[in-house]
This record gives sequence, C-alpha cells and structure tokens, in this order.
Amino acid sequence: MKYLYVAATQEVEREALAAVTARVAAEFGGPVRGMELGSVDFAFDAERRQYGSIPVLDMLLRRCPQDATKLLAVTERDLFIPVLTFVFGQAQLGGRVGVVSFARLRQEFYGLAANREIFLERAYKEALHETGHLFGLVHCAEPKCAMSLATTVRQIDLKDDAFCAACGTRLRRKPEGTQV
Ligand SMILES: [Zn+2]
Ligand SMILES: [Zn+2]
Repeated sequence: MKYLYVAATQEVEREALAAVTARVAAEFGGPVRGMELGSVDFAFDAERRQYGSIPVLDMLLRRCPQDATKLLAVTERDLFIPVLTFVFGQAQLGGRVGVVSFARLRQEFYGLAANREIFLERAYKEALHETGHLFGLVHCAEPKCAMSLATTVRQIDLKDDAFCAACGTRLRRKPEGTQV
C-alpha cells in the first residue's frame, strides 16, 4: 500500500494541519498518512532571516518513506529561494516532495485582523497547488484555478480551492508515481 504523506514541522498549528490534510485527502483520494518532521532550523539563513526551501526539499527527499507516493510538508517558517523574496511553497514537478509555508497566509502577517476562514482557504489552495505540481500539473492560465501562479495573497484569494476542468482532467490522466 502506498500513501500520500502530509508532514509537518514541529511549530505547525495542528488544527490547521488537520484541515489541510483532510482537504488534500478529499482532492487526491486516500490513503493519506501524517508524519512529524521536527525543526527546519538547519535551513535558516541568518542574513535573510528566512528558511531555504531547497535545503528543506533535500531533507524531505532523504526522509521520504518507502511507502510514500508523494510527501507534502507544511511549515510555519517563511521560505525563500535565492532569486525570490519569498515563496509560498515549492515542489518538484512530477517528483516526490513539496513544501507549503503558512507564514504569509495569515492576515496578521500583513498587519490585518486575524481571519480564520481566509487563512484556511489560502492554506487549502496552496496545498492543492504544490500537490498538483507533484502530480505533474504545471501553472495554469486560468486565474481561478488552484494551479495558477500566485505571487501575492491577493492572487491566492482570487483562486478557487479547486482545479479547473482542464487541470482536473490532466490530473486524472497522469499515471500514479510519474517521475521526472
Ligand atoms: Zn506553482
Ligand atoms: Zn487549471
């Protein structure tokens, strides 16, 4: 039996993690397993005061269980890649591991009043987006599709927490475990 793993670093809010796990399970079909990752302090960049998503993906590849089809990690840490100010997440296209950061999904990050519903919707959309990449989906030109590229929370908010018809069809056509 193969599982889709949804893994969490230690600081992740458990209730949000459970909600995201349930949403991913509903979209991609079970069985889904949880996994604890501990800290990602090793990926901390003291100059940027952020965490490198590339070293995080390397760690995930090393720790990816034998029975994992895919491993999506969730962290509260703010992630970056060298050429960008930040990333909401990163995943290997058609690969095994990806990561989503909750750090910039909360209204509080932007100095606004907390809003649980908005935060969870953003978390669902970004989890679907990165998992979609793992299953071979590329960025979609339809702004409402979960696979459209979002570089601001405003763009995330314009998306539906679902794939468009074309991406949904592509997803169902992909053979399980396609690797690149
Ligand atoms: Zn993307
Ligand atoms: Zn689409």
